[in-house]
Amino acid sequence: MIAKAVEQLMEQRKDKLMIPAELVANVLENNNLEHAFLVLTKVRYAKIPVLDSKQHFKGLLSLSMITETMLGLNGIDPSKLSNLTVADVMEKDVFTIQAPFKLEDTLHILVDENFVVVVDENGIFMGIITRRELLKSVNHMAHEIGNEYEITPIVEKTK
Ligand code: AMP
Repeated sequence: MIAKAVEQLMEQRKDKLMIPAELVANVLENNNLEHAFLVLTKVRYAKIPVLDSKQHFKGLLSLSMITETMLGLNGIDPSKLSNLTVADVMEKDVFTIQAPFKLEDTLHILVDENFVVVVDENGIFMGIITRRELLKSVNHMAHEIGNEYEITPIVEKTK
C-alpha cells in the first residue's frame, strides 16, 4: 500500500498521467515491415504499440524486431520487408493494464518498463503511461506534500 498522502497528491495529476491513444504513434498488425520501418525511423521511439483495424491492442514493435529479419549471410538484406507483416515479428504477450487503473499498479510496473499500455474492458487501446509522465507526478507530489500535509516522524530520533 502506498501512503494516503502520496496517493491523494498523485491522484491530482492522474488525468494527465496517460498519453491518450490519438497522441501515441502506432502501426497496424497487417502493415508490411517496410512501412513499419519507415514509421519507427521517423517517430524515433524505441517501441510503439501495434493495433488492429478496430483499435484493439495487439502487441509492441521495435526497430530491432524489424532489423533482425534483414540479417542475411551476406550482410543486410531488406528485400523481405515488403513480404512480412508487423504481426509476424511483434512482441505478443504484452502485459497491459485496464482502465480505470490503480496508481499503485503503474508504480510497480514502471520500475521495470519504460511504458505500460492501457486498454478498456474490450481490449481497445486507450493510451500509454510512460516513466516520464509518472516522474512528473512524483515530482508534483514531492513539491506539494510539504504544502498540504504536516509530516512528522513517527519515531523521534534519539540524540
Ligand atoms: P519516455 O518516458 O517519454 O521516454 O517514453 C518511454 C517510451 O514510451 C518511449 O521509448 C516509447 O517507446 C514510448 N512512447 C512515449 N511516447 C510515445 C508516443 N507519443 N508514441 C509512441 N510511443 C511513445
